[in-house]
Amino acid sequence: MTGMTSSARPLLNRRLAEFGTTIFAEMSALATSTGSINLGQGFPDTDGPDEIREAAVRALRDGRGNQYPPGPGVPELRTAIAEHQRRRYGLSYDPDTEVLVTAGATEAIAAALLALLEPGDEVIALEPYYDSYAACIAMAGGTRVPVTLRPDEGTAEGAPDGTAHRRFRLDLDELRDAVTDRTRLLLVNTPHNPTGTVLTRAELTEIARIAVERDLLVVTDEVYEHLVFDDAEHVPLATLPGMRERTVTIGSAGKTFSFTGWKVGWVTSTQELVTAVRTAKQYLTYVSAGPFQYAIAEALRLPDSYFDSFRADFRRKRDLLGDGLHAAGFKVYQPQGTYFITTDITPIGEKDAYAFCRALPERCGVVAIPNSVFYDDPDAGRSQVRFAFCKKDDVLHEAADRLQRLAS
Ligand code: PMP
Ligand code: GLN
Repeated sequence: MTGMTSSARPLLNRRLAEFGTTIFAEMSALATSTGSINLGQGFPDTDGPDEIREAAVRALRDGRGNQYPPGPGVPELRTAIAEHQRRRYGLSYDPDTEVLVTAGATEAIAAALLALLEPGDEVIALEPYYDSYAACIAMAGGTRVPVTLRPDEGTAEGAPDGTAHRRFRLDLDELRDAVTDRTRLLLVNTPHNPTGTVLTRAELTEIARIAVERDLLVVTDEVYEHLVFDDAEHVPLATLPGMRERTVTIGSAGKTFSFTGWKVGWVTSTQELVTAVRTAKQYLTYVSAGPFQYAIAEALRLPDSYFDSFRADFRRKRDLLGDGLHAAGFKVYQPQGTYFITTDITPIGEKDAYAFCRALPERCGVVAIPNSVFYDDPDAGRSQVRFAFCKKDDVLHEAADRLQRLAS
């Protein structure tokens, strides 16, 4: 052998050595190769509003955004993001200096961590964590410190007895104890993927208190801000006392408007923090999604009725799939937000989420995600499996029917 491959040194640098193909790509490929219903990767099987798709077509035809858009994002979108934050949450951001458009929330996460971390800085992240968090902390040379959400035992309020179990809960004492002199940043995600937990105002107030007391930066991934059900309320961390000046808030049009392929995301924060994140972002994609940015500016101005029916629709889908999973014998943790349901497979006689998910297409033609990959210690989530309900009702009915085979 010659050249690079002859050396004993592996090609992939050691920061990324623990990372392989993302579970989402792996499981979507499995769905395609087996012709299964894909309840794994979280993408809707129905596109967002027609008028927003048409707005993108118009922008393309009119030549808006077909060449590099401005680095921070087109002014129309930055203004619409600032208006959305003000209208929804009473948060005021200057569209010129405190808003940054990114290539999806994924780039926002990467740019924020690359910009704000020094090698060796500790980052506290809620576990199970969305997979890009671990990879981006690693790329930035940071050290991740997980604080694990654990399911409360018992039946969820309002659920018929035994059908849905309580939410995963954050132990605030554990969070407080996890902070050290090396902690630089809290990486929060609410509504939380994969558990569906929506952190309460009381929990977030305590997180804010810890951040202020210990002078920590906070990056908060709120991409599911509009997917909150029942009595749960989405409270942006930046609205809490002392938080606006230390919080980088991340949103995504993919989730809110069901255009995940457009990859339009954004950051809102102080000028200083946005400038830092933009510095890293410039050298990642520089810019992206020109014409789509104009369309999403219109989407953010849709009337409240859009957001209300979006939420009602997904609540119905949650119940439809939740009932099916319960009937098939899974232990169902009732999500208050996101479009995911986490289940426990122990009651159907299974132990290993990854092996179960690999075999599920053959057993009943459905694909799901093993939550074990979202834990530092996979044993912690060994029996948890996540199902996405962002699919047409008839697809969810069909998936529920197929999953009943596991019960027999
Ligand atoms: N954060 C969370 C919690 C997500 O679930 C996702 C993806 N679905 C993202 C970020 C990435 O969002 P985007 O597709 O906008 O990059
Ligand atoms: N966020 C989506 C999920 O959790 C997947 C996005 C991706 O594939 N990177 O399923």
